[in-house]
Amino acid sequence: AGPFTVVLLGDGGVGKSALASIFAGASDSMGSECELYGGEIFEQTITVDGERASVTLLDIWDSQDEDSWSKQRCLQTGDAFIIVYAITDRSSFLHASDLRVQLRREREADRTPIILVGNKSDLVRCREVSVSEARASASVFDCKFIETSAAMQHNVWPLFEGIVRQLRLR
Ligand code: GDP
Repeated sequence: AGPFTVVLLGDGGVGKSALASIFAGASDSMGSECELYGGEIFEQTITVDGERASVTLLDIWDSQDEDSWSKQRCLQTGDAFIIVYAITDRSSFLHASDLRVQLRREREADRTPIILVGNKSDLVRCREVSVSEARASASVFDCKFIETSAAMQHNVWPLFEGIVRQLRLR
């Protein structure tokens, strides 16, 4: 099935490129430059529930970018979105909610799968966002939720598998 295009969103420093490298590391594939947007593009075939899926992961979001047109184009691009915050950074969590609102505005009435991801779950002692709060926010915004640690490689494949399952159900 696919190819599916999945876009990573979220503040700088939350771990988007760390998650993308784990995704890319499953084979020899390397990120290549994404000329249309700037940023990186990763292509991978993964097996989910015994079926192969071809996934293109875009790490192109630049939260500092002042150009709202390029941001808008980015939000129009994906078949699915991974909105990442760091559990150690409350403001990245609040920005994740803003992104969810922007996505809904850009793509009203479509059923684009979205996963809210709390990364850096290994840094428990610096936690600023609780699991229950994040789960509540995800359910308000009608998206799935998972905590990951790119550093410990915890829950990263379940994240990508979950996105593929959602895309198949769409
Ligand atoms: P991006 O700007 O969203 O792409 O974030 P990066 O992937 O560049 O990560 C920013 C910093 O956070 C880097 O120093 C990473 O090594 C670190 N980092 C990323 N993921 C994790 C994680 O799960 N746990 C910890 N402890 N550090 C992480």
